[in-house]
Amino acid sequence: MAAFILEKLCRGCKRCVNACPVQAITIFSHLPVVDPAICIECEACMESCMHGAITFTSSEERESNG
Ligand code: SF4
Ligand code: SF4
Repeated sequence: MAAFILEKLCRGCKRCVNACPVQAITIFSHLPVVDPAICIECEACMESCMHGAITFTSSEERESNG
């Protein structure tokens, strides 16, 4: 499960982009997008995010948890 950006919480600060060791995150329309083919699930982006906008929960789990 690659990192996932919660767009509603993201402030577009790009800290996660700079934190990613493999450049898996790029900015599109002021929001970061993770390329799951590149992401190594190191969680550095999640630790760098000051807004709790990055998760590793699957979409199915997010939906069932509301
Ligand atoms: S560090 Fe968090 S708030 Fe900043 S751009 Fe990345 S996801 Fe958005
Ligand atoms: S988990 Fe690691 S490799 Fe994946 S996007 Fe975040 S910083 Fe990059």
